[in-house]
Amino acid sequence: MNDVIRTNHLTKSYKKKTAVKSVSLHVKQGEIYGCVGPNGAGKSTIMKMLLNLIAPDSGEIFLFGEKLTDSSYECLKRMGSIIENPYFYEKMTARQNLEMYCDYIGYHNRERIGEVLEEVRLHHVENKPVSQYSLGMKQRLAIGRVILTRPQLLILDEPINALDPEGIREMRQLFQRLSREEGVTIFISSHILAEVEQMADTIGILSGGILRKEISMDEIHAYRSDYLEIKVDDVSRAAALLEKEKQISGMKILQENRIQIFDPELSPREIAAMLVNHGIGLEELVRKQSTLEDYFFAYTRGED
Ligand code: ADP
Repeated sequence: MNDVIRTNHLTKSYKKKTAVKSVSLHVKQGEIYGCVGPNGAGKSTIMKMLLNLIAPDSGEIFLFGEKLTDSSYECLKRMGSIIENPYFYEKMTARQNLEMYCDYIGYHNRERIGEVLEEVRLHHVENKPVSQYSLGMKQRLAIGRVILTRPQLLILDEPINALDPEGIREMRQLFQRLSREEGVTIFISSHILAEVEQMADTIGILSGGILRKEISMDEIHAYRSDYLEIKVDDVSRAAALLEKEKQISGMKILQENRIQIFDPELSPREIAAMLVNHGIGLEELVRKQSTLEDYFFAYTRGED
């Protein structure tokens, strides 16, 4: 598949601080790519460089296979973006806001407004003033405004920030529909892993301006493993017993008297019985699954 976005050792400093360090990322056509990292990781800086709003100090950007330069007008026309908080005329309806935007940019396909309102699922409330919309609805209207002209690539900075679970679900469905049904490539940033995890096809893990890892969600799902976590009154004796009686070597001892046991074949009932029979006070036993967050922290700590 072709890369719609490719960067080559992209680097940017603000005064003495390097915000983005030699980032080489790859976004495939039609996928949802989540650029994830804590605040200050460099996500917005990358997005602004992709949109030619700021210039990199070094490195290259290729969009739709073409090198981005100061005169890359045509390829920027194929892109839509939301970088800062979107604003609307609050007393006007969604339709009026979109009509005004069309007038402003000189886009004359009025039928498209109805299509877009349907696409972002606001057609049933299109005649209500925007002031009555929830944050999620406003965010969807913002996406509607961006997709009016049918861009092939969306660059969205923290589009799910501050949304409630319902808003996140709506946004996820919208992005997936755009990507699956219309082949739109979507590059989003977020500092909340769990939210991106549910919608992205590929994740780029960024911290300290460095792209630590690019990984497909399929690979992440394969990495995921079930484990048991127990809380006991005597961690060292319990660990010794697990090793001796059950030949378990994959264990991790945590704080608060907790032990994680990595062995998919294990029977929780047998573990509980063995520990209790040896006089260990078992306070908790739960089966858990490692999350993208575990993966992320493993990478940002430099472990593989
Ligand atoms: P993120 O979007 O991941 O929160 P940013 O790209 O906004 O990260 O910021 C990366 C780093 O660059 C941060 O340390 C931030 O303080 C710094 N930074 C961002 N914009 C500017 C600016 N205009 N001037 C100086 N430093 C900046």
